[in-house]
Amino acid sequence: MPEFFRTRAGRQCLTIMALGAALWISGALLDVDSWLVSFMSNFEDYGADKFVLALGIAGAMSFIYSVLRIADLRKEMLLRDAAQARADWIATHDHLTKLPNRYAFERKILPKITDKEGNIPDEARNNVTIFSVDLDGFKKVNDLVGHKGGDVLLVEVAKRICALGNADCVYRFGGDEFIIIALGMTAAREEWFAKVLIQAVTRPILIDGFAVEVGASVGYDRWSEGAEPLEDAAHRADLAMYEAKSRGPNHQLVFEPSMQDKVAERASLETKLRGAIQNKAIKTHYQPLIDLRSGSVCGFEALARWTDEDGMNIPPPVFIGIAEETGMITELFENLLTQACSDALAWPDHVRLSFNVSPVQMEDKLLASRILKVLAASRLPARRLEVEITENALIQDPAIAAHILDELHEAGVQIALDDFGTGYSSLAQLARYRFDKIKIDKSFIATCREDEKQEKIVRAMLALGKSLNIKTTAEGVEEHAQFAYLLQLGCDIGQGYLFGKAMPAAEAGIFIESQIASLASTA
Ligand code: C2E
Ligand code: CA
Ligand code: CA
Repeated sequence: MPEFFRTRAGRQCLTIMALGAALWISGALLDVDSWLVSFMSNFEDYGADKFVLALGIAGAMSFIYSVLRIADLRKEMLLRDAAQARADWIATHDHLTKLPNRYAFERKILPKITDKEGNIPDEARNNVTIFSVDLDGFKKVNDLVGHKGGDVLLVEVAKRICALGNADCVYRFGGDEFIIIALGMTAAREEWFAKVLIQAVTRPILIDGFAVEVGASVGYDRWSEGAEPLEDAAHRADLAMYEAKSRGPNHQLVFEPSMQDKVAERASLETKLRGAIQNKAIKTHYQPLIDLRSGSVCGFEALARWTDEDGMNIPPPVFIGIAEETGMITELFENLLTQACSDALAWPDHVRLSFNVSPVQMEDKLLASRILKVLAASRLPARRLEVEITENALIQDPAIAAHILDELHEAGVQIALDDFGTGYSSLAQLARYRFDKIKIDKSFIATCREDEKQEKIVRAMLALGKSLNIKTTAEGVEEHAQFAYLLQLGCDIGQGYLFGKAMPAAEAGIFIESQIASLASTA
């Protein structure tokens, strides 16, 4: 029976048709002719002949109506089927690249892999590999060639992946993330294919006259078909991809169980960090900054310290990194800055507080007003605060960075360029922004006395500072010889274990007092 007659409308049409047909058939089967003649002659006065005629016409009309209605409804059903198919396609595909999306993957739509009934052929069972690909540096492409240019890149990347022979099903999981399903690969072939994927994606793409390049990180693992949902294998491929990404761009890795442990560890650390920020358990310690010529303290750099409930010291780059990734950095920063400003009030007026701002914060348009608000509440004069930013923080969004730095400068806050020489474009940053200080990274200071090249670089940096009329700080001064050498080269300020490690606020107060006492005794 055609599909249409199973619907409610179809059944109604059938009933009407049946009624019409019944009227005709009953007329034919019964000997109605003679019966009618006698009936009509008996009831001529009542016009019964007209009634029977009307009944016949009604039957015929309802039959014709049913036929027409069936035609209409069939057309309507075809249109509805087409609309349904279109809605299904939209729900299961990415509009930009036309690739199936995450929803299609979750619904196990595996077009080239499954047969008509949606089953995986026997030869492919337990021989399915899921690859997870994530682009590196895609955000920079958007900044360089705009969002339309970014779209062009994604379409090209999708085409390149689909053109690879072994990419049996390719999905775009949103953003710059792709999933590829491949069949029948050996372990060696999987590794080879992951490398081929990276090569295909990272070939330059010409957009608006720019040869644009992105990197790619790839993770992969097998799907135990029948033993687990497809998403589980994709999740493991993702974990391997994240681990590959953490090793820098253009790496590929197969999943290993230790990656799962790392994720669990990281999740537990994240929970602990959330609690520590709420309970204000993270404290600022202070490392002295020494005026090399006078030997006196001219400031302290606030450095965050966290000892967790088990007595473990978590290194700042670890917890600051998690706070940045999870968006907790703003709350942590405000807590620490409030603490540090209140501690700095106890120091002599010429002793400055240096405070680190993370690159992620430089994308926050409200950063300057957040800092000025904390300053106003603490009553620490703006001229006593120095904000340290790294070069990398300036290239994320140069327009916002310029706006933040201008606002801070206007209020009287000093700006120092931290880890100078380690970023992408140190000199370009010096030309674009106004800095009050350059902090030469400790990696240069550690080797400058043994390594001639490093020595020349340090000399050049100090000369640069002098010619631009910007003060210079040397980080990581550990030995007397380094101190004497830097002093001789004209460096202004020193920071390092030679002068003192980061210490709690109370010790910083004692440090200043002891300095004042020793200065007084030598005067
Ligand atoms: P940084 O801003 O370059 O801070 C200087 C780092 O060098 C500190 O490490 C300090 O302890 C270390 N250091 C100082 N003198 C010496 C020395 O003579 N030799 C050696 N080898 N190291 C020395 P720390 O405290 O582990 O901080 C590491 C990084 O974590 C900092 O690098 C900074 O980028 C970040 N950080 C620390 N506290 C904060 C904070 O409150 N906010 C933000 N955004 N970042 C912070
Ligand atoms: Ca710093
Ligand atoms: Ca530094």
